Amino acid sequence: MAAQPGDIRRIFEKQGYEVIGDHAAVKHCHWLRKSLLFNTPCYKQTFYGIESHRCLQMTPAAYQCTQKCLFCWRYQGFTDTALSPAEAMDPDELLEGCVAAHQRLVSGFKGDQRCSPERWEEARDPKHVACSLTGEPTLYPFLSDFFERCHRRGMTTFLVTNGTMPRVLATMDVLPTQLYVSVCAPTKEIYRRLCCPLVPDGWERLMETLQLLPSLGTRTVIRHTLVDGWNLGHEREYAALDSRAEPWFVEPKGYVHVGYSRQRLTMDHMPSHADVRRFGEHLANHLGYRVLAERPRSRVVLLGGGRERML
Ligand code: SF4
Ligand code: SF4
Repeated sequence: MAAQPGDIRRIFEKQGYEVIGDHAAVKHCHWLRKSLLFNTPCYKQTFYGIESHRCLQMTPAAYQCTQKCLFCWRYQGFTDTALSPAEAMDPDELLEGCVAAHQRLVSGFKGDQRCSPERWEEARDPKHVACSLTGEPTLYPFLSDFFERCHRRGMTTFLVTNGTMPRVLATMDVLPTQLYVSVCAPTKEIYRRLCCPLVPDGWERLMETLQLLPSLGTRTVIRHTLVDGWNLGHEREYAALDSRAEPWFVEPKGYVHVGYSRQRLTMDHMPSHADVRRFGEHLANHLGYRVLAERPRSRVVLLGGGRERML
């Protein structure tokens, strides 16, 4: 029998999430801890300048997703592929709930000898919202208003989407500071088997999103999560997809064998950093981009096509 919403809530809470209302959640990221205690930030601080210890990681759609990717390391108790305006929280209430939950989660670091009081105070006052965590955030119907509230409060925003909701992106008045689209398959057939869409036209919607990206007035990133034996290689096909989107950046990143993905994949599906770097170099050659940076311990490479100079 499928898990019920109450069961899912308990699973999330057991895993350290704070559930907000009926559909949102906050969890402090592993890198917030690393940054606070050991001054080791996530690769996105190095690549894009956000401060890991001041990053609020959240999702407005913890129970909703349009895919069930084999490599997803989060609990996939998704009950819906939609969230109606009548069910959804007001964006002010959502933001207040997220900030309060973030502060409660960060309070656990108070008094830790490894964490300076100044950095702890900073962490309580987040300057960045990473809208990802789990589920598909674009299913939250007031996402544009939510970003408007975040920006008004002086916070920058990242949105990570699987690209299956192009009509939402096309009609957002306020876009995130940086928009990530995950392109995790070079072909429709691999997409079908690896990303397991719950909507019948998932691939076509992803293609529509790629087509839309050049017209959106924000920084764009295509993320390729690479799973050895599944979607690694195929650089020519990926380049054909990426070139439609004209992204500011491309981020090839190796699959990591953690969380619930261990029930579906093995350690052998994790590419080495050398594999990811090689893929990145080949892809950059096809796209006319260049390798800008890399982080071997996160198995990630950053490619750029020239617009990074505007950062
Ligand atoms: S940007 Fe992502 S990885 Fe970095 S601290 Fe925020 S949630 Fe964690
Ligand atoms: S789209 Fe994201 S949240 Fe949904 S199953 Fe895939 S990795 Fe998990």
